[in-house]
Amino acid sequence: MITKFIKRILRRDPMVKHTQANNTGAPKRIPKKAHRIDPHLLSKNAVKVTHTLQQAGYEAFIVGGAVRDLALGISPKDFDVATNATPDQVQRLFRKARLIGRRFQIVHVTFFGKGHPEIIEVSTFRALLDNAGDHVAESGRILRDNVWGSQGEDAARRDFTINAMYYDPSSETVLDYHGGMADMQKKTLRMIGDPAKRYREDPVRMLRAVRFAAKTGFELDSATRAPIAKLGTLLNDVPSARLFDEILKLLMSGYSWSAIQGLKDAGLHHGLLPLLDHILDKGEESKGANNFVKLALANTDDRIQSGKSVSAGFLFATLLWPDLLKNWKANSAKGMANIPALQDAMDDTIATQSSGMTIQRRFESDMREIWSMQPRFERRVGRFPFRLIESPRFRAGYDFMLLRCETGELNPEIGQWWTDFIAADPARQDELMVSAKNESGNSPSPAKRRRRRKPKSAVPPESAAS
Ligand code: ATP
Ligand code: MG
Repeated sequence: MITKFIKRILRRDPMVKHTQANNTGAPKRIPKKAHRIDPHLLSKNAVKVTHTLQQAGYEAFIVGGAVRDLALGISPKDFDVATNATPDQVQRLFRKARLIGRRFQIVHVTFFGKGHPEIIEVSTFRALLDNAGDHVAESGRILRDNVWGSQGEDAARRDFTINAMYYDPSSETVLDYHGGMADMQKKTLRMIGDPAKRYREDPVRMLRAVRFAAKTGFELDSATRAPIAKLGTLLNDVPSARLFDEILKLLMSGYSWSAIQGLKDAGLHHGLLPLLDHILDKGEESKGANNFVKLALANTDDRIQSGKSVSAGFLFATLLWPDLLKNWKANSAKGMANIPALQDAMDDTIATQSSGMTIQRRFESDMREIWSMQPRFERRVGRFPFRLIESPRFRAGYDFMLLRCETGELNPEIGQWWTDFIAADPARQDELMVSAKNESGNSPSPAKRRRRRKPKSAVPPESAAS
């Protein structure tokens, strides 16, 4: 017991100069002509970081997802660096460097350029923990992961072989401990080590498997896929904030629709988002909802793939819209006035989702804003359109409304009217206001609307309560 404790303390010491792989074997050294990584795809700042560390006598590599993406010829969205320098030693070398985390510290080195600041995450080589001691839950899930180790150990604790390659920009060499490059060529996603054990250690790896398969188009190796069907329920034990982050990554991967199909195929969608259960299980029955969500996700994927930003609030607003619409209609059918019916439906929809996975507050308020704006797009009288345009989140609300037009839930002429209205000069805006007034179904005053029985659009009609 005491020796185990002493061993653990000793292992916590920074391993500044050791690079011998402990029982993990020597890496394969892959030269430029074999990996064909295009140096133009590298972040200059990441290269600066590895170079500065190397100049100071440390080892430093670009690592993880960035190497995978580079080898695929994709420009990585962020760059991680791994080194044998301790966090303190790293921090001393850079002007804008911040220590992050308590138990296992990493360093964020920030660079300010023309666009957004770029953060390069620098971590010290870390070891894989064995299954002994207080850091493993009964299920095998790792609770703490805080010992430094050799590069070989650092490679072994990573998830997939293609995520465990180290690239040295100075020599343009890739160090490959687990056959990642061969798997890249075979288009195979393979878990390092015993897959079942690795999923038990961290069930989120099952979601990562689905996400990377969707992103790379690779097949899951059969041994990597096999245990997922049985171990999926382990996701219930994962803290909901972590689950939420992972689902968000999946939805924002640029391949969200195929990732969601992947979740379904792997039987992993249950309980992640009640909405996914609803859509993926019901098939034909929820075709309309499915179409809306599919279109929204395709739209998000397009934006992400073409380098545009996507707000998570917008995305969740689209995913939950079919549910919200159902609740809203049900409330209206019970005789509730339109806007209270909508407010109540928003509360209900968000509460239902929270039973599975908490949607963070900051997204919740974005969602509410986008939703609340929707009935206002149908009020094209008086000062209403002018006021709506001035809302700080108008653009998001407008994009959302266009999606509704695209699926036919809202009359596409309304979408076109707004598109014209935004682009118009004041004289043309006046003409558009007149044309809207003359359109059937667009009554001039809320008082008249209240008397109308049947709404023209799928959305419950405006009422005096708005
Ligand atoms: P992305 O392009 O989505 O950022 P990524 O591979 O960089 O993909 P990150 O979550 O940024 O994913 O993690 C960086 C690296 O850390 C991974 O490539 C992998 O080597 C390792 N890693 C991350 N999460 C885990 C995990 N749950 N288990 C084991 N290794 C992990
Ligand atoms: Mg990453």
